[in-house]
Amino acid sequence: MDTLTPQELRDSFVNCSRADAADLPLPPGMHEVDWARREYLGWRDPRLPQRGYVVVPTPSGPVGIVLRASEASMRSHAPTICGWCQDVHVRRDVYFWSARRAGEAGRKGDTVGALVCASFECTENVRRTPPPQFVGFDAERVIEDQISGLGERVRRFAQAVVGVSRS
Ligand SMILES: [Zn+2]
Repeated sequence: MDTLTPQELRDSFVNCSRADAADLPLPPGMHEVDWARREYLGWRDPRLPQRGYVVVPTPSGPVGIVLRASEASMRSHAPTICGWCQDVHVRRDVYFWSARRAGEAGRKGDTVGALVCASFECTENVRRTPPPQFVGFDAERVIEDQISGLGERVRRFAQAVVGVSRS
């Protein structure tokens, strides 16, 4: 996937209205994003602490998703593992983010949720060399596996949000 223009990024959103997509804050530094090395791009809304956005590159194009963090998960600082990067080496806040599904399912109130790093640091986490006691000698292989695992889990989430009803 090549670079996205701000308009393409806004057009990629599947679970909000056109007006909301036109109004959402663009991610900082989006023109520098190397999509070949990005399983997804995620950012928080500076005006609305509970609001997050992710854009997932998929074979059929980018899928943008509006997410909402549960208040309980924002208050809890109990250690939890992110369901996407599954990073166990650095302790960070992980929130329960939910997304309204696209189309008819979403209008009926259907959502998809996941425990994900509060500031969407997954793509950095999977590229960090793990401490040697965890991996023996083949750190590169471990990092590759982490990257492909993250990509798969994020794409699966995006598919669940899009569902089969997307026209
Ligand atoms: Zn993560």
